[in-house]
Amino acid sequence: VRHLVVVLGDQLDADSAAFDGFDPEQDAVLQMEVTDEATYVPQHKMRIAFFFAAMRHFRADLESRGRVVHYVRLDDPANTGALDSEVARHQAALQPQATIVLEPGDWRVREGLRKLPQQLEFRADRHFLCTADEFDAFTERHPRPIMETFYRAMRRKTGLLLDESGRPVGGSWNFDAENRKGFGKSRPPIPVARSYAPDAITRDVLKLVSARFSNSPGKLDRFDLPVSRVDALTELSDFVAWRLSLFGTYQDAMLTDEPFLYHSRLSGALNLHMLDPREVVQAALANRNAPLNALEGFVRQIIGWREFVRGIYWQRMPDYADANALDANLPMPRFYWTGETDMRCLAQAIGHTIDHAYAHHIERLMVLGLFAMLLGVRPYDVHQWHMSMFHDAIDWVSLPNTLGMSQHGDGGVVGTKPYAASGHYIDRMSDHCRNCRYDPKQATGDKACPFTTLYWSFLAKHRRRFANNGRMRNQYANLERRSAAEIRAIRSHADTIAAAML
Ligand code: FAD
Ligand code: SF4
Repeated sequence: VRHLVVVLGDQLDADSAAFDGFDPEQDAVLQMEVTDEATYVPQHKMRIAFFFAAMRHFRADLESRGRVVHYVRLDDPANTGALDSEVARHQAALQPQATIVLEPGDWRVREGLRKLPQQLEFRADRHFLCTADEFDAFTERHPRPIMETFYRAMRRKTGLLLDESGRPVGGSWNFDAENRKGFGKSRPPIPVARSYAPDAITRDVLKLVSARFSNSPGKLDRFDLPVSRVDALTELSDFVAWRLSLFGTYQDAMLTDEPFLYHSRLSGALNLHMLDPREVVQAALANRNAPLNALEGFVRQIIGWREFVRGIYWQRMPDYADANALDANLPMPRFYWTGETDMRCLAQAIGHTIDHAYAHHIERLMVLGLFAMLLGVRPYDVHQWHMSMFHDAIDWVSLPNTLGMSQHGDGGVVGTKPYAASGHYIDRMSDHCRNCRYDPKQATGDKACPFTTLYWSFLAKHRRRFANNGRMRNQYANLERRSAAEIRAIRSHADTIAAAML
């Protein structure tokens, strides 16, 4: 073998830079299913199955293009169980002149591969629109980088949603103010989520996962994720046709037993590189009937947030993982693994996660993440729980979103203020509170909503850090309206809640 091209589970793109110059006559591909990657944190069965099923479909795709693939199955008796040892084993057996791999999406994996005695050639991943050098140049110009500034630079770079004179279409860069609607009494129909019935390849994987990972969290019985490029493209068309138009308007809304609403459900396919972000954005923009608030909101998530968090991750690792600006040290409450809580909003969001290895952004940020932050859970533990439970979680995207955006553990790198809110916010954006035994308006007493209690207690506890943050002025003005005795009672109730979680 001349070149051995290593393809990791989140690099499933037959046109990636790793294949530049690939000669089917002399070169070969290596793909590996290894126990280490499926167990370094406990992992949702659906997440393991998603990766393995997508990898096996990708192998079939490569073979149909005449590329030789050395595919290590999890149950292969020769499998040594780790990425680095499998690469080394194949280097020894195949004696390639060069071993090529795309830059991995996980700092831990990259370090493992870098330490191999027979060195690998790492190639930059052009799946992303912003290179590490471009991001460094951006943060040199903006030493306190803000996503919105980065996003505008990306709009200028790509020319997306700009008119001929380079101004933003519609006269504004951002239409988020139109994207915060909850569902009132009359609500538009919610499209039925498309289901991708497992084929023979996926059924084999499901059997393997059921047998080998029976103790892993989450359920497998509803597995219907797109696991090939063809299915991923179908999901993209389905989103553009049926959900995109209302994506913006109801982006922040939550509804009982509706895990997907108008969200795209494309994160898994994007993060495994079955889809390219450019084609995703172009498909959305081709929908001439979609309103600007939906198009702009969607484009911002893909070329703004997704690229921004990746830039932060690679620029700040490995120290970033240890950040704990709010000195939060409680462990993750046990009910995050089971959904057994009488807090209705959390039971719903965790239930969606257990059933689908998915929850939409507002459930992740303003329910699951919010509660952990208000309670004071160690940010890295929250990230590890995310890595365990979400099918789309890769370190580069989960860590900045979880430790940074949702826990404020980075002290204000990803977001300039913590996403702190009380039960009142959840009440406004969902139908959960009216079916809950707690009352979002009450901060003390039997019926006090734990979010509301913990919210006021959080503001009081971190007064010194946040009271002068201009974006939190109103929140602190409201806190100051409460008497010292009220705040003492709230903080004592917050302590009782925290103690009950341990
Ligand atoms: P949509 O709501 O339809 O959004 C469209 C696309 O935009 C997504 O598919 C995604 O590719 C991109 N996107 C939107 N927001 C973000 C963001 N903040 N960061 C990066 N990309 C974004 N996303 C992941 O892909 N993997 C994760 O592990 C992950 N962990 C998260 C943890 C927390 C605590 C939070 C608050 C967010 C996390 N996100 C993560 C971002 C976002 O919540 C998911 O991308 C989104 O919910 C996936 O569902 P969707 O495809 O239906 O997204
Ligand atoms: Fe959640 Fe509080 Fe509303 Fe219950 S009352 S659903 S705990 S926000």
